[in-house]
Amino acid sequence: MRRPNWVPEGTDLDKPNAARVYDYYLGGSHNFEVDREMARKAIELWPELPQIMRSNRAFLRRAVQFAAERGIGRFLDIGSGIPSFGAVHEIARAIRPEAQVVYVDRDPVAVAHSRLLLEDDPGSSVVQADVRDVEDLMSRPEVTALLAAGEPVAVLLVAVMHFVQDAEDPWKLIAVIRDALPPGSALVLSHASLEGRPDQAEDHQRLYRRTPTPLTMRTHEQITAMFEGFELVEPGVVYLPQWRPDQPEAVGEHPERMTGVAGVGLRP
Ligand code: SAM
Repeated sequence: MRRPNWVPEGTDLDKPNAARVYDYYLGGSHNFEVDREMARKAIELWPELPQIMRSNRAFLRRAVQFAAERGIGRFLDIGSGIPSFGAVHEIARAIRPEAQVVYVDRDPVAVAHSRLLLEDDPGSSVVQADVRDVEDLMSRPEVTALLAAGEPVAVLLVAVMHFVQDAEDPWKLIAVIRDALPPGSALVLSHASLEGRPDQAEDHQRLYRRTPTPLTMRTHEQITAMFEGFELVEPGVVYLPQWRPDQPEAVGEHPERMTGVAGVGLRP
């Protein structure tokens, strides 16, 4: 297949990729046939998937608004993906015009896109790094500059830690990030849950095993443990639509069908 000019050299176009599959679910155009094919298979298995992704994105928006309203003006968005709809700097700046954002993703396509979109934006930067090599990530100049002022930073790990396997110890990786954060900082996290649709979890994980980013869904308890050292704000770790909905009716009758759980914790 011919490589479109927005695709960085060295990108494997023959294998589906989580960032581009997610872009397809959200209705974006930065994906290839392999990605669409995988997304269609996943949707066949789990018709609510596009809605789940939108629900996740809506959680991200509400959580960034929550952080900005509390006075947080610095954001570290890890596993930021392809910022097609409502990027973090846009959401945050509607409340705090001076907000700064560092976007981090391991995927070269997501990074190349984010750079294109943000090249004229002095308040944001894009880093290609892998959260599994957390020391490297936290020592990048863009990240150390964001933290250096000692002002609170909201770290976003939204729909990313389920791409880290148990053997890679996601809890420990988060603890390393936590220990670098100034007081008053926040952790914004969402994660695929094993309990929302237990009947479909295994099939879904099997599909992602074919990709360079296998999926590990986890229990509510395992996900809550990721907030160690943070104080969870109300309503705690809940299904995506239940986290501070804009209107009570937005939760819907079956929030568990959105399968992801989410929470926000603050560093005392
Ligand atoms: N955070 C965005 C959101 O919730 O809308 C995008 C989520 S998307 C489902 C997951 C993103 O995490 C992809 O862009 C993928 O490339 C990235 N990712 C997966 N594993 C990663 C890792 N180990 N380090 C950094 N990014 C990773």
